Amino acid sequence: MSKKVLVAGAGAAGMCAAIMAARQGASVTLLEKNDIAGKKISMTGNGRCNLTNEAMSPSCYNLSARSRMEDFLKRFGVSDTIDFMKSLGVVTQSEEGYIYPLSGQAVTVQNAMFDEVKRLGIEFVGGRQLKKITPLSEGKGFEVKASGEVYNADAVIIATGGLSGPKSTMSTGDSYYIAKSLGMEVKDTYPALVALLSDDKDLPKDYGVRMMANVRIKEIEDICEYGEVQITSKGISGIPVLQLSGRVAQYLGEGCKDSGDKSKAYSSSTGTDKAKGNTVTAVIDFFPTYSDEAFEDMKKEISGMAAGKTYIQVLDGICNHLIGVMILSRCGIGQETIVKADDINKLCDVIDNYRNVCISIKGVSDYASSQVTTGGVSLDDLTDDLESVTTPGVYVVGELADVDGRCGGYNLQWAFTSGSIAGRAAAR
Ligand SMILES: Cc1cc2nc3c(=O)[nH]c(=O)nc-3n(C[C@H](O)[C@H](O)[C@H](O)COP(=O)(O)OP(=O)(O)OC[C@H]3O[C@@H](n4cnc5c(N)ncnc54)[C@H](O)[C@@H]3O)c2cc1C
Repeated sequence: MSKKVLVAGAGAAGMCAAIMAARQGASVTLLEKNDIAGKKISMTGNGRCNLTNEAMSPSCYNLSARSRMEDFLKRFGVSDTIDFMKSLGVVTQSEEGYIYPLSGQAVTVQNAMFDEVKRLGIEFVGGRQLKKITPLSEGKGFEVKASGEVYNADAVIIATGGLSGPKSTMSTGDSYYIAKSLGMEVKDTYPALVALLSDDKDLPKDYGVRMMANVRIKEIEDICEYGEVQITSKGISGIPVLQLSGRVAQYLGEGCKDSGDKSKAYSSSTGTDKAKGNTVTAVIDFFPTYSDEAFEDMKKEISGMAAGKTYIQVLDGICNHLIGVMILSRCGIGQETIVKADDINKLCDVIDNYRNVCISIKGVSDYASSQVTTGGVSLDDLTDDLESVTTPGVYVVGELADVDGRCGGYNLQWAFTSGSIAGRAAAR
């Protein structure tokens, strides 16, 4: 008789797990809280779905997952994801290493996965919320409660995701409690791939500023990102900022833990709530491609022509106007002040600020605007097949586990990697 596998959550990880288990001959039931499967997939990659990335490495994932990622990715990596898509009829293309469906539409992936679920005869039940998993006596499998219904299964794959994404994705972190009830440790959660918030009063208003820059966090030594940074009156965002955000959220939250004043893990609170008054400093370098020598040369050249102009006229010649306004205000110099012949050193000091613009960060934006949740079910409590050590027969996949990747296809890759490994193992 074929094995009965129940998968809870029909996102990227859950549908992948269900498909892999069914392809191995298991009889699969797929429960989904939403009415439709794969809602979040349709929103990914700005509607284009960045499936994975040719530049794949364990270092693209959170620190606590890295030592396990090499093995996981060996078992189901980038080329496996591309082949999996091909098996669904989805042709992919690489844009400088970032892999997208050739159709340019995320909905292609959502539909193709669900078509395969139906083709394989997987029983899909929408509008069913997983509530409880009870292990039956030795070898008898599990009783699963979902929205008032009771199901029996030999193996259960929990794929209900984390807390990130708009409300319509139903990402409410339901299974953190379920995993805990089955003896698994759940690491504190924070929003990641999300904007950083600031109360600084002198940040550019309205649409703000978009500039290529390096961003680092003064208090966290080993992180620095390059790319287009957006600064508005609310704080900073853009890809390089998103890449730093998980570490910042954790740092601010951990600071609270030290002071014994930390919000409960996996509550719906934001990173800002958890920060409770802690701050870090984002340091922005608006001349990231300049060596120290080239920057000095540029400064000399500009200041040599500056006498008689206003400070803002000089600064407008080298960078965005609104950044110049902010720097002059921080230096206590009026925009219309004339640069005198003997002010050249003072002007050079002002220009030096472009490499060190400090913005005080009070927290990160909320889960609804984040792309991924950092934290979750500890990998220490999961085997190489992502099976629970404390409750064998239960598997944890996707964002629910303590794995989060950089922006650029790494999180969907994890959803496919974990879904595939657990789906095949559960069917055995
Ligand atoms: C706006 C946005 C853009 C993104 N873009 C990209 C991108 O381009 N590339 C990339 O790699 N990553 C991207 N991500 C991240 C990526 O989408 C997620 O990491 C990935 O989809 C997680 O897959 P999952 O299956 O683990 O969870 P989810 O996709 O969240 O799926 C979980 C499913 O479980 C269901 N569910 C929840 N609770 C229950 C319950 N109790 N019972 C039954 N069902 C339940 C949910 O309704 C949902 O359908 C993006 C995220 C967002 C929010």
